[in-house]
Amino acid sequence: MEFKGKTVIVTGAGKGIGREIVRMLVERGAQVVALTRSGADVEALRGEFGCRAIQVDLADADATKEAAIAALPADFLINCAGTTELQPFLETTVEAFDRLVAVNTRAPMIVAQEYARSLIKEGRPGAIVNVSSVASFVGIPDHAAYCASKGGLDGLTRVMAKELAPHGIRANGVHPTVTLTPMAVKAWSDPEKAAGMMKRIPVGRFAEPADIAEVVLFLLSDQAAMVNGISMPVDGGYMIA
Ligand code: NDP
Repeated sequence: MEFKGKTVIVTGAGKGIGREIVRMLVERGAQVVALTRSGADVEALRGEFGCRAIQVDLADADATKEAAIAALPADFLINCAGTTELQPFLETTVEAFDRLVAVNTRAPMIVAQEYARSLIKEGRPGAIVNVSSVASFVGIPDHAAYCASKGGLDGLTRVMAKELAPHGIRANGVHPTVTLTPMAVKAWSDPEKAAGMMKRIPVGRFAEPADIAEVVLFLLSDQAAMVNGISMPVDGGYMIA
């Protein structure tokens, strides 16, 4: 997959899966506009990959809209930023729920709106990939707000796929299982929980960021021109186990 001459917006580009997506895109000829939170990551992305990097807290709706507009014009969009907080359902706080929905659900909508508006105005085609999770398909203990926020993201993906396709813009979702990133350390550092999860993955391992990035880039590319509105698990068979 070649992305020579293409500009791609990647949110959550500073760490984990987003960072690997940036590395692969740059290797394949793309210019990346990175949206991420930490200042150190912004500097690293500029230095290491020559990205145009914009520092933004995606929990802030106004700042997100401003950053999305500043990132344009672009050929493709990858909504990868995500966050989690572990709380049992009965102890899930309104504050944590709102934070997760703001970052995992609302921010992808805001960024995609600005991206799609600009393409439609210019009459250009495009593609969006939203990074969801297997957590949108199943109930994972202590992940109530996270599961809900990713389920909401899937709903957005499907509506975008229907409403934007007539304008030549596809939208798809990618659903990783546990992937070895800083987020996974936060969510799966309890060896007992990790072992239970691993047992349900037929390929017998957790994912690497590159496993997810390859699928994201495929769905973005013209090779996937007829793929629209899907929720693609990248889970080593977790969903059939
Ligand atoms: P990481 O925590 O490793 O990286 C997340 C990136 O998103 C960081 O660069 C982080 O920046 C950025 N980010 C988070 N919150 C904000 C915010 N409010 N504003 C701006 N940037 C923000 O996560 P992963 O790479 O593991 O996850 C990437 C995506 O994959 C997420 O959507 C996640 O839900 C999903 N996923 C991950 C799985 C896993 O096991 N790792 C499994 C299934 C899905 P900063 O560090 O500066 O806050």
